[in-house]
Amino acid sequence: MLIYLELMQVLENVPLAAYTTFGIGGPARWFVEASTESEVLEAVHLARQKDSPLFVLGGGSNLLVSDRGFPGLVLHVGLKGIESHVFEDLVRFSVAAGEDWDAFVSLVVDKNCGGIECLAGIPGSVGGTPVQNVGAYGQEVAETIRVVRALDLRTLSFVELTAQECGFAYRRSIFNTSDQGRYIVTQVKYELISQAVPVISYADLKQYFREKSTVPTLEAVSSAVREIRRGKGMLIVPGDPDCRSAGSFFKNPVISSEHFTQILAHAGSSSVPHYPAENGQVKVPAAWLLDQAGFHKGYLLGRAGISSKHTLALINRDGASAADVAALRDAIIAKVSEKFAIHLEPEPVWVG
Ligand SMILES: Cc1cc2nc3c(=O)[nH]c(=O)nc-3n(C[C@H](O)[C@H](O)[C@H](O)COP(=O)(O)OP(=O)(O)OC[C@H]3O[C@@H](n4cnc5c(N)ncnc54)[C@H](O)[C@@H]3O)c2cc1C
Repeated sequence: MLIYLELMQVLENVPLAAYTTFGIGGPARWFVEASTESEVLEAVHLARQKDSPLFVLGGGSNLLVSDRGFPGLVLHVGLKGIESHVFEDLVRFSVAAGEDWDAFVSLVVDKNCGGIECLAGIPGSVGGTPVQNVGAYGQEVAETIRVVRALDLRTLSFVELTAQECGFAYRRSIFNTSDQGRYIVTQVKYELISQAVPVISYADLKQYFREKSTVPTLEAVSSAVREIRRGKGMLIVPGDPDCRSAGSFFKNPVISSEHFTQILAHAGSSSVPHYPAENGQVKVPAAWLLDQAGFHKGYLLGRAGISSKHTLALINRDGASAADVAALRDAIIAKVSEKFAIHLEPEPVWVG
């Protein structure tokens, strides 16, 4: 059934599975698509009129939507437009939240601007990138974001937040922690370096370019990232069941050095992979923990499973429900907690 508001179409009982990379999820009670800031505001007024919860949907690549769906209004952010301004050797891009992130990376790389070339191939919208401070292959968006423009749902006014005000950290920002649900991002301003020399700090990338004697171009780096991601099922490739996922399902846990020493003692070797984290803590790869707990590539639990190409990607293998994926998630969390006393934190947002 369709209801027409002044500007927007309001749809009812819209299945959300098609709006997610998992391909899972029941219906939204109401569903609207906003293509301007005034439509975003209008959607918020509509949700308030209906006394209904509001969920902001971007590209649906970091979500697990419940089988019952969402009992309120889903606002799909569809704002489009990209502007650029050159300031000496810097280029500032103002990008509407509904633009496709990977298409934006390609555009920037074509213009020979550096800073996000290693973030090629990440699905989702531009508006979704500051939420969990997306990162991969040695870069994070926090390094290039200067301003996030958003509707503040407390005051119903549009605000411009500096990168510092966004509180970026590993897979974190105010948008998914202290101020979760407060802001609807409508535009992100990135500052990139013109004619930049690409960043090759990540082991996989170093390995990829090991035999090249010249410094690779930005284009070569972003292509290499896409190729490596494809091999891991971390690129959306139509027909590849390993990419019916939300990417990495668990964050890499950060633990105290004492806790890490205990794990080393327990593992009986010094070969536990780890990286230094803030304040002398240690980051342990979640993929290693899953492997050690018996959850290997290709592991199956009902219609859900683990990707055959990447231990950290839980997949919708064969018409899985959200309950199937949640059962696998819970089994992994319980086993890793029992074996290592580490509570794994899921990366995707649970909706409904
Ligand atoms: C195959 C695959 C590979 C991936 N690889 C990576 C990776 O390498 N690194 C990484 O960091 N992530 C990765 N991801 C996760 C995901 O792509 C990112 O988190 C992405 O930025 C999510 O954006 P989205 O638009 O799809 O957000 P959605 O999934 O639609 O939403 C995610 C959260 O952000 C909120 N949100 C979305 N848009 C807005 C907005 N405009 N305003 C306010 N809140 C908003 C939603 O309410 C929700 O809470 C991967 C996912 C997949 C499927």
